[in-house]
Amino acid sequence: MIIDHYYRSILESLPQVVIVGTPLPVPEAERGDFLIEYVNPAWELVVGSSIRSVQGKKLSQTSFAKSVIPWQEMGAETLNSRKTQHYTSYSEILHKWLDITIAFLEPDHICINLSDVTCVKQGEMRLKEQNLRLSSLSAELASSKNNLKIKLEKIENLNFNLEQLAYYDRLTRLPNRLRFNDILVEEIGEAEKAGNSLALAIFDIDNLKVLNDSLGHESGDELLCQVARRLDGFKKYDISASRFGGDEFLLIIKKYEHDAELLHLIDLIQACLRETYTVLNVAVKSTVSIGVAVYPDDAENVQNLLKYADIAMTDAKHRGKNTISFFHSVMQENLLSRINIERKLSQAHEQELFQVYYQPQFDVVSRALRGFEALVRWFDTELGYIAPDIFIPIAEETRIIIPLGKWIMRTACKTLSDWQKDFGFEGIMSINVSPVQLQHPEFTAELTACIAEFEIESRSLEIEITEGVLIHNFEESVKILQVIKDLGFGISLDDFGTGYSSLSYLQFLPLTTLKIDRSFIANITKNKSIEYEITDAIVSLVNKLGLDTIAEGVETDAQYEIIERISCKTIQGFLTGRPMPKNECRSLFEKGKQEQQ
Ligand code: C2E
Ligand code: CA
Ligand code: CA
Repeated sequence: MIIDHYYRSILESLPQVVIVGTPLPVPEAERGDFLIEYVNPAWELVVGSSIRSVQGKKLSQTSFAKSVIPWQEMGAETLNSRKTQHYTSYSEILHKWLDITIAFLEPDHICINLSDVTCVKQGEMRLKEQNLRLSSLSAELASSKNNLKIKLEKIENLNFNLEQLAYYDRLTRLPNRLRFNDILVEEIGEAEKAGNSLALAIFDIDNLKVLNDSLGHESGDELLCQVARRLDGFKKYDISASRFGGDEFLLIIKKYEHDAELLHLIDLIQACLRETYTVLNVAVKSTVSIGVAVYPDDAENVQNLLKYADIAMTDAKHRGKNTISFFHSVMQENLLSRINIERKLSQAHEQELFQVYYQPQFDVVSRALRGFEALVRWFDTELGYIAPDIFIPIAEETRIIIPLGKWIMRTACKTLSDWQKDFGFEGIMSINVSPVQLQHPEFTAELTACIAEFEIESRSLEIEITEGVLIHNFEESVKILQVIKDLGFGISLDDFGTGYSSLSYLQFLPLTTLKIDRSFIANITKNKSIEYEITDAIVSLVNKLGLDTIAEGVETDAQYEIIERISCKTIQGFLTGRPMPKNECRSLFEKGKQEQQ
């Protein structure tokens, strides 16, 4: 079953476990067993093993099978009757109350939904217990009028206890989920009246399970109490803390003027929770993952605020724990998600939202302008600037790179032709060509048609390819490149040093230029760096082969000096010029003319 991106992202942020699978042939199917196709990340929190270890396995082979009591009977019944089965059971192994639902998904899948309902269940049981005692006391009271006063006091006490039980967490004494809801509703009401913001932060302890498993549940409980006490200490900043159940705490933060102050407060709390705890005489370290949603910017009601803070917290966990995520930044990332970019890319092409920028390249010794590299830019009205590193790979996969690449090529050729006419520019225009473009049967024909249309010579155009081109169809690609080179175009090998670079095959490739990746240049000035040694060796070999060498990403004078010392011919980098729009390059030609005069 293919779960599409949209549903998958919803499933991945749920606190309940969702398992989807296909029934096995009889007799296993008769025993309710099935093959797991998908399980969401909540599995790791609730069941405690990694999702990778269970994907593709039979359900009976997982730790779930031992920990959840009647799943087999329920599974078999679901398969027989196609009716959804529901059961709540205590797992001795996981020490949790679990709500389990098994449903049949047409046409041939099975879905298990598993929720941890320990808190609710425990609260329910305690309330039942207290209710029983209360009614027996009332009965007693009715029958004996003698010690009425004492009994009344007892009832009052019991009522107080009942309230405590209903609204406060028994372990930590902090307000519980129910009470928290009331507090948040009140606080939102007040914030609304005053026109203020309010932040809801979910704090999730990262390592409670490890602590429970290694030092026992008593230690886990003790840690929770100490965390609660530390959180409660932030009352002085008007921050109210509640326990949400399990290893989660909720904080309402309202006294802050701007985002930086909010972040500062959360940092303070996070740092306080990171201080070592002494739990039953053992020193314990603990960290938290924090998700934050803000009223009214992110959401205006309790449910959504909670949901969004939870999504942000899940994001913080995914980003490696011990971190803070704000819902709006998570959304920002989602906006930049693959699906969104995919959708916008084709629109952007139709609406001509792309531009081409040009970055100058200079001769290292004479400092004369050698040419430009054409670099595509995308400014989206909603997302702002989107870097080519993000969208080019997507454009390649969706093949939008074919029309987009053609447009970039035509735009760069038109620019070159204008510069030749307007400024007598005699340098080179370098164009990045993706492997998908190069392997397109029309590529060479389009290239030649383009130079014919704009009346430029092939020697003023250079295409930049990466080693990625060569991995698939090495021979085929070399043939295409040879044809292009024979037509007189320059061919430059880009990002040399990052991929499968091998000096031994350089001589077999029809190249004219080699560009040394900027990761080498970045470390070239470090004393005795391996990057220096390698760059030095590459440049001398490439010089011997008669190719041009370009050092990419040169940012400092120190790097420039070393590049000059090792006889690299050309330089391209922020030091000598950033990528700029066509019009801004004008100053370079005017400067060049002045220098000639
Ligand atoms: P690239 O081909 O290696 O392009 C050089 C990248 O290095 C550019 O990033 C440029 O802005 C950046 N750069 C130049 N000098 C410096 C420097 O001194 N320091 C630093 N830190 N960076 C420097 P950009 O434009 O973001 O492009 C990233 C990559 O996206 C390109 O890497 C290329 O692989 C791809 N790309 C860009 N434009 C096109 C295009 O028109 N077609 C295709 N197929 N790919 C493109
Ligand atoms: Ca390039
Ligand atoms: Ca490069």
